[in-house]
Amino acid sequence: MGKVITARYVANKMMRLVVSLIAAMGAGAAAAQDWSQVTTPAPGPAQSIGYYTAGCLQGAQALPLEGPGYEAIRISRNRYWGQPVTIDFITTLSEKVRASGQAHLYIGDIGQPRGGPAPSGHASHQTGLDVDIWFEREPGPRLASEQRENPRLRSLLKSDDSGIDDSVFSPQHVSLLRLAAEMPHLDRIFVNKWIKQRLCQTVTGSRAWLNKLVVWAGHDEHFHLRLYCPPGNPQCQGQAGYYSDDGCGEPLEIWFTRPPVKLPPPDAPQVPYRPKLPAACAAVLKAP
Ligand SMILES: [Zn+2]
Repeated sequence: MGKVITARYVANKMMRLVVSLIAAMGAGAAAAQDWSQVTTPAPGPAQSIGYYTAGCLQGAQALPLEGPGYEAIRISRNRYWGQPVTIDFITTLSEKVRASGQAHLYIGDIGQPRGGPAPSGHASHQTGLDVDIWFEREPGPRLASEQRENPRLRSLLKSDDSGIDDSVFSPQHVSLLRLAAEMPHLDRIFVNKWIKQRLCQTVTGSRAWLNKLVVWAGHDEHFHLRLYCPPGNPQCQGQAGYYSDDGCGEPLEIWFTRPPVKLPPPDAPQVPYRPKLPAACAAVLKAP
């Protein structure tokens, strides 16, 4: 059973993030630049080491840049590397989405070839177990990989963030999230509060899968899948639980009643996130 998210839980979580950001400024923090400059995976069996926001990955596998039901986008970022279980998850989900009659998915960041902190973007995606999938359901014709740097990626929200944009949001999004939420190995999916609210208000029949949809700021243009630590990865650190039910009660309401979590605008200067990584990550970074 998961821990119920309360306002205090969210406050503690934010505080831990601030503390880890401050700690990361100290000596011993890996330079994010190093991780993004390594272009090949570390040899050896796949091992996620550390936590989603402070870790690394040995033995990463590359997502083929296109496949049945999906295309990887923004290839130039070289963040299409992950745990084999993550690559399997993406290809299996894409097949399911295709079988349901939907257009192909745009797959965004998974992780760098050896995981670790990235110089821009987000704090997580460090252990090969996170993946961003875009909500865009009218991706247009398939293009060569180098032409997939800046595709149209519409938000599901109105431009003033005041609610769902019903000219974009469709039953396909509900079906897509449900397909992902019901797959094995999935820990949680991060989505925007307005998306969770809409599902809470409208999903009928089985609602058990709503449990997997965890609210976070942003996540209105893409959703973020997080997988559990795979078996046989003793240095992989999982995340604590979340809702004990569908998460449609208080844990959702606090997102509408407390001051909003503001994400920096996309054009804000990037402050590199440099967490202190487990000692074992030094060997992963230096491996030939
Ligand atoms: Zn993400």
